[in-house]
Amino acid sequence: MTKPKTMRAMVLEQPGRPLKWLEVPIPQPGPEQVLIRVHACGVCRTDLHVVDGDLPHPKLPLILGHEIVGTVVETGSRVRQFQVGQRLGVPWLGYTDGTCRYCRRGQENLCDNPRFTGYTLDGGYAEYAVADQRYSFPLPPGYTDAEAAPLLCAGLIGYRSYRMAKEAGARLGIYGFGAAAHITIQIALFQGKQVYAFTRAGDTESQEFARRLGAVWAGSSDELPPEELDAAIIFAPVGPLIPAALRASAKGGVVVSGGIHMSDIPAFPYDILWGERVVRSVANLTRADGEEFLEIAPRVPVKTEVQTFPLEAANEALERLRHGQIQGAAVLVTEGKQ
Ligand SMILES: [Zn+2]
Ligand SMILES: [Zn+2]
Repeated sequence: MTKPKTMRAMVLEQPGRPLKWLEVPIPQPGPEQVLIRVHACGVCRTDLHVVDGDLPHPKLPLILGHEIVGTVVETGSRVRQFQVGQRLGVPWLGYTDGTCRYCRRGQENLCDNPRFTGYTLDGGYAEYAVADQRYSFPLPPGYTDAEAAPLLCAGLIGYRSYRMAKEAGARLGIYGFGAAAHITIQIALFQGKQVYAFTRAGDTESQEFARRLGAVWAGSSDELPPEELDAAIIFAPVGPLIPAALRASAKGGVVVSGGIHMSDIPAFPYDILWGERVVRSVANLTRADGEEFLEIAPRVPVKTEVQTFPLEAANEALERLRHGQIQGAAVLVTEGKQ
């Protein structure tokens, strides 16, 4: 197969503006990198935060997208882990220095000098992408390219958030029932949890979706669940959900915020935190999280529900995500491959 010199990509030139459908050079893989033909790339809420300028200092111009599924077409000189023709997945964490105090104590997700796919590195809203072999994952068979894409962030970050919550007890609340939630609930049920799903007021469609996936209760985020929660995971980027989840939690309850950005958290009385309740965030992922999650997912088995869009419709996919009009996960697919 002869490789063309240029590719189509959806490019962010400036935050606050729509992505542009451009012809750009195909990137060259460095020694540790593979060049992949992108087949599918998930659309994550973090992409919206980058487009909106909520996250500072993105690479510009930038190709978004950090849930990339593709096939290797070329390997750098030091690549041993992947071969031409192999399918792989590229997540948000694209590089760490390996030497800072966080990396040295096994917290590479907190690295002082990280690079992130689709934010400080070009990502997968394109026909081709390069990725570092050390931060890419082989993908379990049994998932189409589009089905596998949401595993790489919605699945991974959901799983890391769930790990922080699961020891607290059996009753798990999930606030915001989108891509991450629809995967996390399947793992939680597999491990014997009861899941309570919270959505925007009046979003009966998402509540129905949660019940269909096995939630024992689904309601609006300003309601209290019928039982106190042992833990809650917040996937919606909405600060007032922190006190709401604390109010819904039992003593010793853990409230985990899984998003990279959130609106301000309003002041709240100490007594809703009292009783050894904990509030914490989850940042990024480690490669160990990825390996663990991709091993568990096919055993559950986690099934992803995806709504696909052609690559050039990325702006439409982002707007639908913004307005809560995606059930499950939005995924961009390149021509002829799903
Ligand atoms: Zn993401
Ligand atoms: Zn580091």
